[in-house]
Amino acid sequence: MAITSEPTLSDAVAAPSEAGAALIETVDPRTGAPLAVVPDTDADGVQAAVARARCVASRWSSLRTKERVAHLLTVRDRLLDRADELVEVICAETGKQRAEAVTTELMAVCETIDWYAKHTERLLRPRSVAPGTMAHKSAWVRYEAVGVVGVISPWNYPFTLSMTPLVTALFAGNTVVLKPSEVTPTVGLAIRELFEHDQWGDIVQVVTGGGATGEALVRSGVDKIVFTGSVRTGKRVMAAAADTLTPVLLELGGKDPMVVCADADIDRAARGAVWGAFQNSGQTCMSVERVYVERSIAQAFIDRVILETGRIRQDDGSTGGGDIGSMTFEPQVEIVQRHLADAVDKGAKVLVGGRRLERDGLWFEPTVVVDVDHTMDLMTEETFGPVLPIMVVDDVDEAVRLANDSVYGLNSSVWTGDDDLGVSVANRLQAGNVCINDCIVSYAITGLPFGGVKQSGIGRVHGPEGLREFCNTKSVMSTRFSGARELWWFPVPKGLDALGIRSLRLRFGSTLSERAKGLRRPR
Ligand code: NAD
Repeated sequence: MAITSEPTLSDAVAAPSEAGAALIETVDPRTGAPLAVVPDTDADGVQAAVARARCVASRWSSLRTKERVAHLLTVRDRLLDRADELVEVICAETGKQRAEAVTTELMAVCETIDWYAKHTERLLRPRSVAPGTMAHKSAWVRYEAVGVVGVISPWNYPFTLSMTPLVTALFAGNTVVLKPSEVTPTVGLAIRELFEHDQWGDIVQVVTGGGATGEALVRSGVDKIVFTGSVRTGKRVMAAAADTLTPVLLELGGKDPMVVCADADIDRAARGAVWGAFQNSGQTCMSVERVYVERSIAQAFIDRVILETGRIRQDDGSTGGGDIGSMTFEPQVEIVQRHLADAVDKGAKVLVGGRRLERDGLWFEPTVVVDVDHTMDLMTEETFGPVLPIMVVDDVDEAVRLANDSVYGLNSSVWTGDDDLGVSVANRLQAGNVCINDCIVSYAITGLPFGGVKQSGIGRVHGPEGLREFCNTKSVMSTRFSGARELWWFPVPKGLDALGIRSLRLRFGSTLSERAKGLRRPR
């Protein structure tokens, strides 16, 4: 599908296979058909990419913020020009429904570019700091690019979760080496095409490959690693980064709870649960992975969930129809089946779905399960598939206790008709993000920092915090006026200790009489 006269994605996929280089094959999860072949980049290839990114790093970081913003807005223009092609590439590798790809991938990235285009200059401006006792000094904080950032991304939102850290790092003045998931590498190559540019083409390098390529990037000497993926791999990344003390930003898995209070709008909560559990076939780090509903409304809520689940249209969306697509990755289907089998063994009841569809590709029915508890993997481990387990609780306190009974803490939600109750439950949930009367979409507000607590991650993307993740905070102090020496330099003046105590009283005494003591000369 040629959109412009510039190189196309198919050129990019065909080009890089040097003789003898190892290759990775990908499949279309909707059909199981072979899709693309890309290089499995080795450590030397990763080093070469990092070197190219480093060559251009100081030139890019020394541009004025305005100039970087202008360049990144041309990348957004190119994204818009190629929107149809990008959606096609994303859907073919992930099995997503088209509208889902448009909203959660292209729109999310455009929002991020837009927000940082508007705010980067202000957020990176040097900030002056009151000098306190050092009144003859001035002090300020300066934000500097860290250098070359390695981005390692997963397959579930291959465009958004590559582009979000990547463009933010660029806005802050860094260059980037991206290692996309081996399940969705052509999305990574499509990203590289967006940045192809006579002068600035090297600010983004893309290395395709599997876990070994990712590990080589972590060990390559980059100045920061942003990893989005599972907790298991995140721990490995952090351990490898520890060898060189490379800083890491980790966006990891979740087991997001939904708390449904007795006064919730049952219709809205049920529709929200169904959307939150099944959009992207449940393969969102912030999917609703477990529901705690108060007993008094539980049956009405469950009935409504069953009704709404039965209405979901499950097809590839190629005709513009369909609500959800296929799953993306065969081993993930096996995890879903394992969690369901474990739950049923321990007494859970499947009310809707529960089976892999008998057709080619990775299709799994939207599934609703009740009679679940925390002895089951389905309620404690990340399932990452279209399964909605619902647990009935006696009251909100029990719901909060169970919601917090997890090693994860990514997103969460509370549903209630009472604003105060919503805020108080939100404050008690151990999570990096909370939605009240909605789920997942807090991520769409780019000004809100996003990330996890507990084992769901370290650091934040989005918002001011997300930009400063990619900066070294340099503190500068300057001497505004001075004599030949500072008071405390050598030789230490006689009586400096007594003078120090008087000035402590004067400055920090909490009552007038205490401060007045600072004015008295010692006898
Ligand atoms: P994964 O951990 O298997 O792989 C993620 C990436 O890490 C891939 O690119 C992979 O090649 C690479 N990798 C594998 N081994 C590596 C190693 N030793 N060193 C460096 N890199 C290595 O995750 P996945 O299956 O691709 O994605 C699904 C997971 O990602 C889920 O757990 C999901 O919750 C999580 N996720 C988190 C967020 C978030 O923002 N918190 C967002 C999306 C997905």
